[in-house]
Amino acid sequence: EHLLAAEADELDRAAEAALRPRRLAEFIGQPVVRDQLSLVLDAANARGRTPDHVLLAGPPGLGKTTLAMIIAAEVDGALRLTSGPAVQHAGDLAAILSALQEGDVLFIDEIHRLARPAEEMLYLAMEDFRVDVVVGKGPGATAIPLSLPRFTVVGATTRSGLLPAPLRDRFGFTAHMDFYSTAELESVLRRSARLLGAELAESAAAEIAKRSRGTPRIANRLLRRVQDWAQVRGTGALDHAAAMAALKVFEVDELGLDRLDRSVMRALCERFNGGPAGLTTLAVAVGEEPETVETVVEPFLVREGLMARTPRGRVATAAAFAHLGLTPPNQSGM
Ligand code: ADP
Repeated sequence: EHLLAAEADELDRAAEAALRPRRLAEFIGQPVVRDQLSLVLDAANARGRTPDHVLLAGPPGLGKTTLAMIIAAEVDGALRLTSGPAVQHAGDLAAILSALQEGDVLFIDEIHRLARPAEEMLYLAMEDFRVDVVVGKGPGATAIPLSLPRFTVVGATTRSGLLPAPLRDRFGFTAHMDFYSTAELESVLRRSARLLGAELAESAAAEIAKRSRGTPRIANRLLRRVQDWAQVRGTGALDHAAAMAALKVFEVDELGLDRLDRSVMRALCERFNGGPAGLTTLAVAVGEEPETVETVVEPFLVREGLMARTPRGRVATAAAFAHLGLTPPNQSGM
């Protein structure tokens, strides 16, 4: 049900890939990150060296994978993709590292979920471009040092705070990605519509942008749903009426909150009286993984002023009660 979740069908994934900006100049929004990256990449290119390792931090769907691809394209390197959960053993990482070529860009998604032994191997690889390959087992095992060509790690994380300091320190810089403004999302939508060969009315773009949770991936998915609606139930035109109707079918409200966002808010307001409630308690109440609630739901609710994170737990604000049409308990004091 969640527009960010993995249940997007294959068509959506193909559309998503087709809509990715390929160069930094095409990348919309994130002016600070773009500026930092272009400096790092231009300097590396001018020196004829591989750029420093880059850490991209921020909620899902804001363009971290896209930026990793752009980095590879801008330095003319091949992109290798992996993820923290995919690397179960240090041996898996050793295999990936020893296959790298000079100038490659290694993208590690969800890098905060790497297992400890793999993480330690990565320190050495990032710092000294070296990996120790263990040959044999038991007392006869020996570590053979293998030197690696120069490459660039691009790590992505939804929770940079969780990254162990030694790993964080090995990145030349960390780009903090923030939610996009409505105007930026309108640009994303106009660009996507153009690439899809569709004519998107200004009023429809504005409506979709306003309800996309500050997230380009959601904006693009909603655009596809509006296209679906227009084709099957509408006149074919991507106009304001089609946008409104599709948004209603997919239960996206006027703040862009979806069903999961609302059920988290509702649990906090109704079952926990506005809080404070702990993350795990809250996640159990809505039947979701704590990590999903923390990285997907909360950042946007906090940004919208609907939830506050306090040392004692999550608290619903008066705006949250108002949005749900509920009366706040008077002791909430917010
Ligand atoms: P993440 O890796 O952070 O989850 P992605 O890089 O996969 O996010 O981006 C999701 C989708 O959103 C991409 O397919 C791309 O089409 C779109 N997108 C993300 N950032 C931008 C941007 N700055 N400009 C245009 N489209 C973007």
